[in-house]
Amino acid sequence: MKQENADVVIVGAGPSGALAGALLAKKGYKVVILEKQSFPRFSIGESLLPQCMAFMAEADIDKVLNLNASSLGFQFKNGAAFHHAGKDTFFDFTEKFSTGPGTTYQVKRADFDKLLADQAQQLGVEIRYLHSVESIDVSSNEPVLTVVDDKGENYQITASFLLDASGFARVLPRLLNLEKPSSFPVRRSVFTHIKDGIECSDFDRNKILITVHPEQRDIWYWLIPFSDGTASIGVVGKLEQFDQSAENENILKNFVNQDPNLVKLLKNAQWHMPVNSITGYSADVTHLAGDNYALLGNAGEFLDPVFSSGVTIAMKSASLIVPLVDKYLQGESVDFEEAYEQPLRAGVECFKTFVSAWYTGDFQDVIFYPEQDKKVKEMISSILAGYAWDVKNPYVAQSKRRLKVLVELCK
Ligand code: FAD
Repeated sequence: MKQENADVVIVGAGPSGALAGALLAKKGYKVVILEKQSFPRFSIGESLLPQCMAFMAEADIDKVLNLNASSLGFQFKNGAAFHHAGKDTFFDFTEKFSTGPGTTYQVKRADFDKLLADQAQQLGVEIRYLHSVESIDVSSNEPVLTVVDDKGENYQITASFLLDASGFARVLPRLLNLEKPSSFPVRRSVFTHIKDGIECSDFDRNKILITVHPEQRDIWYWLIPFSDGTASIGVVGKLEQFDQSAENENILKNFVNQDPNLVKLLKNAQWHMPVNSITGYSADVTHLAGDNYALLGNAGEFLDPVFSSGVTIAMKSASLIVPLVDKYLQGESVDFEEAYEQPLRAGVECFKTFVSAWYTGDFQDVIFYPEQDKKVKEMISSILAGYAWDVKNPYVAQSKRRLKVLVELCK
């Protein structure tokens, strides 16, 4: 079998893999990304948070994104709007506590992921599309991956350090038995793209619209407009809240028809794509790194889509790991648990506090509370904009305690 080597091998060319690759290539390392699909390819996760613009800026990808956004139909985004049973509210991410970008985009992931991957290639990363990682041995000093290439032939590649950015495929957690159940119940999401035909003059295309189901507060919808008149629409609920025997298209249309505001907004919509579904996406692992490998993005922990934190967490993981891999490859000792896992998990825990409180309805009470204090709103806006690692924000530093008090106040 053919044998090769590289400084860093990355499994998967999604946002976490592409950004980590780009940052490592900038430091001069030989980086190979093995990606089992060919790009562009569809992926869910289209509403970005402003915080991730700062991570992209580390590899100058924000500039390329800004230049290409309009031609790719990406929608400028400056906040999140919420609707529940006749009540409307919104958060403007430019009015936030933390410093850093306050705007971003809603992106079609096929083109966004390709743009990131192309940028990584420009910086010197070798991306091998249609190369699927089949097995990995991390028992020796240098991990060895067995790969099937685009012609169906096997080869091995040895890495000085391995990054698993394989997303929901969770290659390394499965092979090394690192998987741990998420603390969230099994939820399902059904979604598609539509020509939205929205005419309402008060509809703000610059914001994701999150709609709470009129009767069941733990069911919610997203409506993510793009700039070319199309939009992504999806519904999320617990597995048992869906009719398992119905077709995806009927499920989604039925749910949309249960919310009068969505019915009004989408009265001219044309459903022009197949309706897809994904179930049981929340996941966790026992640890995020070993001596010679680390898990990035969804290959580690994935919470829930409600606050669009997935790509931001994926990019934060890339931004955190790269200087540590650099040190490791320079021969310095690195405590990945302390320097990578703990800081990454701290922000994820903050998101988790707010996601959990969303599903109990407590955080919804805060969001829809009519007399919000300006300063508190800016702190919450910061978290919704992705700044979940900014410990200067009291709602980050003490998220559970602070949120509990706020919930009491809003009740
Ligand atoms: P991915 O983007 O999944 O990339 C992983 C890559 O690895 C893929 O290209 C795959 O082909 C490749 N791969 C897998 N196995 C192998 C193998 N064996 N060999 C080689 N390559 C392999 N996030 C947001 O930020 N905003 C949102 O609005 C949002 N909405 C969401 C809605 C839903 C319903 C769900 C489930 C998630 C949503 N997310 C959202 C989350 C977002 O999709 C993910 O967090 C994000 O894509 C993670 O990026 P990643 O780089 O970790 O993995």
